[in-house]
Amino acid sequence: EKPVENHVFEADVARLLHLMVHSVYSDKDVFLRELISNAADACEKLRYEAISAPELLSDDPAPRITLTVDADSNTLVLEDNGIGMSRDDMVEALGTIARSGTRAFMERVEAAKAGDGTQLIGQFGVGFYSAFMVADKVDVISRRAGSGHAWLWSSDGKGSYTVSEADLAQAPARGTRITLHLMDDAKSYTSKWSVQKIVKDQSGHVPVPIDLIEKPGAEAERIGDGTALWTKSRSDITKEEYADFYRGVSGQYDEPALTVHFRAEGRHEYTGLAFVPESKPLDMFDPSAKGRMKLYVKRVFITDDAELLPRYLRFVRGLVDTSDLPLNVSREMIQESPILAAIRKGLTNRVLTAIEKLADSDKDAFAKLWEAFGAVLKEGIYDDFERRSQLIALSRFRTTTSDEATRSLADYVKDMKDAQAAIYYLTGDNLDRLKASPQLEGFRARGIEVLLLTDSVDSFWVTAAPDFEGKPFKSITQGAADLTQVPKADGEAPAAPETTEAVTDFIAFAKTTLGDAVSDVRASDRLTESAVCLVAPEQGYDRQLEKLLQGSGR
Ligand code: ADP
Ligand code: MG
Repeated sequence: EKPVENHVFEADVARLLHLMVHSVYSDKDVFLRELISNAADACEKLRYEAISAPELLSDDPAPRITLTVDADSNTLVLEDNGIGMSRDDMVEALGTIARSGTRAFMERVEAAKAGDGTQLIGQFGVGFYSAFMVADKVDVISRRAGSGHAWLWSSDGKGSYTVSEADLAQAPARGTRITLHLMDDAKSYTSKWSVQKIVKDQSGHVPVPIDLIEKPGAEAERIGDGTALWTKSRSDITKEEYADFYRGVSGQYDEPALTVHFRAEGRHEYTGLAFVPESKPLDMFDPSAKGRMKLYVKRVFITDDAELLPRYLRFVRGLVDTSDLPLNVSREMIQESPILAAIRKGLTNRVLTAIEKLADSDKDAFAKLWEAFGAVLKEGIYDDFERRSQLIALSRFRTTTSDEATRSLADYVKDMKDAQAAIYYLTGDNLDRLKASPQLEGFRARGIEVLLLTDSVDSFWVTAAPDFEGKPFKSITQGAADLTQVPKADGEAPAAPETTEAVTDFIAFAKTTLGDAVSDVRASDRLTESAVCLVAPEQGYDRQLEKLLQGSGR
């Protein structure tokens, strides 16, 4: 008699499961994609471990995922011969929220209190737990490759689960079998035809073959051939196939905004398949989020931890497959490898070039991409010295003449006033407040465009940015504004600010009254309506940066 351990789910998991169980989200099919992608991951992990421990494959080396539908018992069973899970793996993986995307999802649901979050399930998928959208009981029986023990995890998704040792005779020889006891309204998942259709639509391109069995004992039928999509040539792949593959590899549920598929030949040989998502991944600003580019060597999955792209491209999803690295390369060695450095450089160039092309060829699509990822891309202006100018040229801005972030610096410079010497900007965290700033008055009066920068990264890159086409960046809250050279829009000739006796007297009065609180009081040509404004000194920090640094310094 095997003892049964009772476990209560972590609070977060319990809340997530409550959402799943009560989900009214209509596209429940997505649970299959999640479970199949886990099974494929498990097969790939085994393939990787078997490079150094081939005995793990024993007499069953070919990876396989098998689905069995059974209308009589109202069950759907998914089995893989992948790496499997030990008891501890199970408690860790199926009892907590491990992946940052799911954690971010929960935070989003909390924040959106009003709704029930089920639309978000559709947008992002929540991994294993999505099984509870269609099943009122889930049994997972698993045997870790090489282990002499198998374990059974079982839950009705209502707050607790059990774990017990399983009979080896009942368990797969290696890998994981998941039995979904389907809810009454999920009976359609016992139909061979509907399951086949869903798998073909959603998971036709996972790199592991998929078999379907109509009822226990019946013959298996291959419904996914396991050919890796990226090994095909571009002209043989449809847009839908790319989109399906993107959803599988990214765990996102939108469309790719940009697909970059190429084969690099010459000094290094590799294939890259990279996607820019349509919408922001949930974990974009989660510092613990892993990169989402996978590294393969000769079609064997190695790691999704290799830094295949710089941080400012962390929203890009996809993979690189190379024949230049040895199969038994350790994950630690990878980061040091000069081959990987060359691949990272090549891939970064390809992705940036594709984004630049989009900027030229489809302004609307690029505007959307910029809206979603501009704030991240701009990090590259101070992170990536080599591509700094390229990224500055790619950047788009809201300005005093444009409400949308559509102005490039090339546009700005083209429209500069004759005597204007600098590219002016104003930083802050709120666009409306920026637009109302008295600092802008003198610039408006002269028709001088000012960049309105509201991302917190802006305060940093402007200090690191070199000139653009010979024009330096200048904060309008900093130092003298130098507007005397530019005539006002109403044709008034440029003139030094008036220094009548009254002004001189007032300045003297202000200086004595304010004392140490200010370093200087000056007459200025930057105001037309307001009487006074604060500016930062010429040398040192701009006001917004000073605020940000004070905020983080505490
Ligand atoms: P993710 O796939 O993003 O890690 P999931 O919720 O889909 O998140 O799965 C959680 C974890 O459960 C996986 O990371 C893995 O460790 C484990 N797991 C799930 N399914 C399997 C399986 N078929 N074989 C082995 N491990 C699995
Ligand atoms: Mg998963």
